[in-house]
Amino acid sequence: MSAHPRRSSLAVHVGAAVIGGNRPIVVQSMTNTDTADAEATAQQVRSLARAGSELVRITVNSDEAAAAVPHVRDRLDQMGVAVPLIGDFHFNGHKLLREHPACAEALAKYRINPGNVGRGSKRDPQFAEMIETACRHDKPVRIGVNWGSLDQDLLTRLMDENSRAAAPRSAQDVMRDAIVTSAVASAERARELGLREDRIVLSAKVSGVQDLIAVYRDMAARCRYPLHLGLTEAGMGSKGIVASTAGMSILLQEGIGDTIRVSLTPEPGGDRTQEVIVAQEILQTMGLRAFIPMVVACPGCGRTTSTYFQQLAQSIQAHVRHRMPEWRKAFDGVEDMTVAVMGCVVNGPGESKHASIGISLPGTGERPVAPVYEDGEKTVTLKGERIAEEFQALVERYVERRFVRKAAP
Ligand code: SF4
Repeated sequence: MSAHPRRSSLAVHVGAAVIGGNRPIVVQSMTNTDTADAEATAQQVRSLARAGSELVRITVNSDEAAAAVPHVRDRLDQMGVAVPLIGDFHFNGHKLLREHPACAEALAKYRINPGNVGRGSKRDPQFAEMIETACRHDKPVRIGVNWGSLDQDLLTRLMDENSRAAAPRSAQDVMRDAIVTSAVASAERARELGLREDRIVLSAKVSGVQDLIAVYRDMAARCRYPLHLGLTEAGMGSKGIVASTAGMSILLQEGIGDTIRVSLTPEPGGDRTQEVIVAQEILQTMGLRAFIPMVVACPGCGRTTSTYFQQLAQSIQAHVRHRMPEWRKAFDGVEDMTVAVMGCVVNGPGESKHASIGISLPGTGERPVAPVYEDGEKTVTLKGERIAEEFQALVERYVERRFVRKAAP
């Protein structure tokens, strides 16, 4: 789990979480409830935190939402959920923070979009007021540029300068430059207003993978602040997951990114925690962090014509995820466990031996037995109707046996 030299050495403390400082990359997420509904928001924050989100952002867009923020914090504290809350502000953040000091205090960080703090002559004083509030409450700030709300005055100026240049760049290049310039210049302005260097995180969200890579490489070269990485408007389903993974993986591999969010559009009625799971899986499959035991399953082929092993893989995956919050509290290192569920004798025994615990199910025409391997050794052979339940019990027993119980707090 190596840290690339670019990961920011500046440590930004956000409640109990730390972004940068060469610490592990932090997973964050955002609610989609109406923040004014404190109960619904607290419940969603709780489920995101339970899924593994280490920071949760909530929108603060109205007086009602700002007034609800301390109550969201109180409810979470009563539930024993310590996850830091980040307030997402646009257009009226200066006013909400001024008029709702309890909100300003309950939040652990403010997200400010320099393209949305105000237009014309109002922009600078309103940005300054938000930064001064952050200084007064000793809160860190993410300066988050989004190309959907890019500072139009800055873009126009850079476009004009470009048109007069001897060798003008493409409009796309100028746009990318404007995004990074807006982020870096806003951070410099925040410093001038008194915000400490280790109180600043930067982001520059775009919705295209190549734009993301270009913008973040440039931003990483132009500053040393911790970077919040994510593709905005990534989309639904597999498209959103693939686009986010494609862009972020390249940057993470280059050492760029100190905290990540995967912005997925949920299916109607879908589970918001999916964005947390995907973020964790990106980091874990890249070997950057371990969150949860990995379930390795073969894709299946003509050698296994039933769906039995697919169901077993799915049920084990669900069981591991369901049990992980308790396992995490009780055992050291359980997130490093690997579980293999394989469909036939071709690769089943070999892959199962490489896993912490693995099962090789019988393929079509094979003897109806399923050998189980623990740390490379065959321990038992399962057969009959209850293979799934018995394997699940073996996984539980393996965790108890293999991992050291933590001392009671
Ligand atoms: S392990 Fe067997 S069932 Fe699974 S993909 Fe390989 S050959 Fe097919």
